[in-house]
Amino acid sequence: MLPVCDPWLTSLAAADVAWATHERADALERRRSQRLAALLAAAAEASPFYRRVLKGRNPARTRLRDLPVVRKSELMARFSDWVTDPRIELEALRAFTADPSRIAEPFLGRYVVWESSGSSGEPGVFVQDASAMAVYDALEALRRPRPQRLERLLDPWYLSETIAFVGATQGHFASTVSTERLRRLNPLLTAHLREVSFLQPTDQLVAELDELAPSVLSTYPSAAVLLAEERLAGRSRLAPKEVWTGGETLSPSMRRFVQAAFACPLVDSYGASEFLALAFECRCGRLHLNSDWAILESVDDKGRPMPPGELGATALLTNLANRVQPLIRYDLGDRVRMLPQPCECGSHLPAIEVQGRCDDTLQLRGAAGRAVRVLPLALSTVLEDDAGLFDFQLEQLGPCELLLHTPMQGSAAEAALSRARSVLTDFLARQGVPSARIRCRCGEPNRVGPGGKVRRVLASGRRPRRTEPALETSHA
Ligand SMILES: [Zn+2]
Repeated sequence: MLPVCDPWLTSLAAADVAWATHERADALERRRSQRLAALLAAAAEASPFYRRVLKGRNPARTRLRDLPVVRKSELMARFSDWVTDPRIELEALRAFTADPSRIAEPFLGRYVVWESSGSSGEPGVFVQDASAMAVYDALEALRRPRPQRLERLLDPWYLSETIAFVGATQGHFASTVSTERLRRLNPLLTAHLREVSFLQPTDQLVAELDELAPSVLSTYPSAAVLLAEERLAGRSRLAPKEVWTGGETLSPSMRRFVQAAFACPLVDSYGASEFLALAFECRCGRLHLNSDWAILESVDDKGRPMPPGELGATALLTNLANRVQPLIRYDLGDRVRMLPQPCECGSHLPAIEVQGRCDDTLQLRGAAGRAVRVLPLALSTVLEDDAGLFDFQLEQLGPCELLLHTPMQGSAAEAALSRARSVLTDFLARQGVPSARIRCRCGEPNRVGPGGKVRRVLASGRRPRRTEPALETSHA
């Protein structure tokens, strides 16, 4: 079955995105206002949840700041009231995402589905139709920078390149579903766009990439750093011409390290399960929000707007492209700074800085004292996918000793931790750490970092304070 794609909608969205890319701020604002009014009208008509929230309001005159903040747990708990197509049932979606053979397959013949990796402690399922995908595709195709300009002029679709996506290839995650969808849509890409699992031990991952010899490496910042270390240590021949990163925070030092190790440009992007292509980098290295299709409000821990230039406690997303599962002032959990000065590249799309997922790569002592590095996203994927544990912290206490704790309590929490210990022990053994000791604790609050964000995986010596701020939210 062909993946969801409507060529007519895609060409319309591409023309719209191409035009808006060079628009002035007031024209972008007009697009946003019209799209917001249309989204509110559609949500009020077809989503029972939003019908209640928007009762008595005129969509064309409603100000975003007068609407309540919503969180994933609240929306997932009222899933059938939230979605605008009553045929979309959560139970059927869960069964669909439990089957890796159905990655990128259309759900109900018309929807693209992925699940969130649970960075806020709760799993989410996101459903988008052909028109939302057309917007994501257009943003991805037209706003992602092209570092090798001459090559791209001759080969805009990267058909002469081999692109390796390194990630959780067996899960219905946004990046994996998108990669697989592209492969299925374009048979010419199948041989050039390859998926490589980061759940395998590092030496096998390196060997697979050496064999593939990709000219473009697309992955998470922590995985790019690990592969750069392998390259510098002489254990890998990986020599990409471009590195694309996203999904985690890329610090300036990580960027410098990866660029120096591979002697090639690195392009970072910012996306989420809730909106695939939120921001792309410009030639000045700044992230620009795709503000014609996404509204991002940087707010403090009470939900009040942050002045430009200051880092918020979280960001509220309004997705103007997805009408199937309306996301209006949705607490994304990432910390965003809206930059006050215009960017030198001339774009009127707002420049932003983001502090998103930022976990540690663990270095553990393996068999015969060998150092084994394990990626934080690989650990989270195993705990979430194989053990069903989403709200946790994994802290390294010693070379072979880990503490896994969860704020959940009761027998369900104990069962989840017991399952988690077992899958984690097996996973670490496969990575070359056969003797890991994993201590488990229920009912222990998550510790937060200096920025107030829960970090899921912490290396030795990275134990932050033990309080968790709560964003005050109003409920519909
Ligand atoms: Zn710029």
